[in-house]
Amino acid sequence: MKKDGFTPDPVATLAAAMHEVGAIAARLVRADHEIPVRPCLDPATVVEEFELGLGEDGQPLDRVLHDLERILLASPATAGPRFWNQLFGGREAAATAADMLASVANHSMYTLKVAGPQVTLERIVLDRMMAIAGFVGGEATLAPGGSISNLGAMLIARNVASGDARDAGLHAIRGRVYTSGESHYSVRKAAMIAGIGRENCVDIAIDAQGRMRPDALDAALRADRAAGALPMMVNATAGTTVRGAFDPIDGIADVCATHGVWLHVDGAFGGSLLLSPRARHLLAGLERADSFTWDAHKLMGVPLLCSALMVRRRGLLTTHFGESASYLFQGDDEAVDPGRRSLQCGRRNDALKLWAAWRHHGDRGWAARVDRQLTLARSLAARVEGHPRLVLVEAPASLNVCIRVPGADATAVCAWLAREGEHLVGHATVRGETVVRVAVVDPAHTEADLAQLLHDLDRAGQALGGR
Ligand SMILES: *Cc1c(COP(=O)(O)O)cnc(C)c1O
Repeated sequence: MKKDGFTPDPVATLAAAMHEVGAIAARLVRADHEIPVRPCLDPATVVEEFELGLGEDGQPLDRVLHDLERILLASPATAGPRFWNQLFGGREAAATAADMLASVANHSMYTLKVAGPQVTLERIVLDRMMAIAGFVGGEATLAPGGSISNLGAMLIARNVASGDARDAGLHAIRGRVYTSGESHYSVRKAAMIAGIGRENCVDIAIDAQGRMRPDALDAALRADRAAGALPMMVNATAGTTVRGAFDPIDGIADVCATHGVWLHVDGAFGGSLLLSPRARHLLAGLERADSFTWDAHKLMGVPLLCSALMVRRRGLLTTHFGESASYLFQGDDEAVDPGRRSLQCGRRNDALKLWAAWRHHGDRGWAARVDRQLTLARSLAARVEGHPRLVLVEAPASLNVCIRVPGADATAVCAWLAREGEHLVGHATVRGETVVRVAVVDPAHTEADLAQLLHDLDRAGQALGGR
């Protein structure tokens, strides 16, 4: 490194670093299986312990790469046999490789001019997703996560309902959004961002399985109309975050049609079940929705983040998210520049990883992947049912298995498993009760992993409950 801070040969330096990164990545992947649960580092001491501070003087690149490996090896493994904590997990090889290359290539996905064929790859994956979701002829964009996709849908629904909110703001309009009490918090947050207000997010009653009740939705819409409020959007969830429940889209679409309200389907989690002919009936009625969120970074194993937002009516994304900027959009056909349809300006290339995984699997491979996930979830539920002490809270609606550990608090059970270095698993609330929630999303899990999880949940229960 020269005194002025510039490397003498940036090309050779980066090429050598990439070579080393490949070796580090391979070691990380192996470590995820060898030491799947690592001690949780105390944020107060990690800086000293790992010497992470930033100072006046820089460090040589090989030292930095070494630091990266140390700290990554001490961070939670999200792709090992003991990770059940999230709605993502595991790695798709082609997608992971493509994502690393996307960083090297570093395109910003707003114009054909600076992203070239990458724009076409994005269109190809979105067209494929729209075909599978029944949104042919519509319009779509990739977004950094389901929360942003849901927000985008709500902004359009709001603009459409109000007529001129895009330009004039909301004035004194009291807009309302309807969603079930078990829907994702991003819906409420989007209502805040969209200027509708969190209090105008109406919780619609659910049935015993955690699905929105269309009759309760109808009653809420009638009451609001009578009170002079403006219904802007109904959010139906396809795969709720805790129970994996699917709101009945068809019945909800009937109500939306009666009241002329925008229907959005939040399939951030469960949208991927469309890929399985065995499971896609759970989203029956989707063809009647106005917009749809589908995350590829959850059940499809694509690295974070990768979410699709689609709208049925072509032109809506461009109309509501398009801006003119002569410094950026320089004369290309409006239809080819994805930056005319996105909420962001600069956009990371989230398409390449999804395209690479799809190229590798094909539709058939995806179906097999989803079926494997469903089989594992069902098997786990059956194992819990057959267990002498653990209790299955309810039959799983899709991939989420909620488990009661009698005699022990689920929060303490999860903390115990993490502390003992056994599993990372989360807890959640079902009908007022805190339970262990296992999301079976990594198809690399085995029957032996399932058995191990239950064995350790039982051990935790015995250790904590003194059974
Ligand atoms: C995960 C999830 C979201 C949020 O998606 P992100 O990609 O994490 O922003 C929204 N809705 C549901 C149902 C989810 O499961």
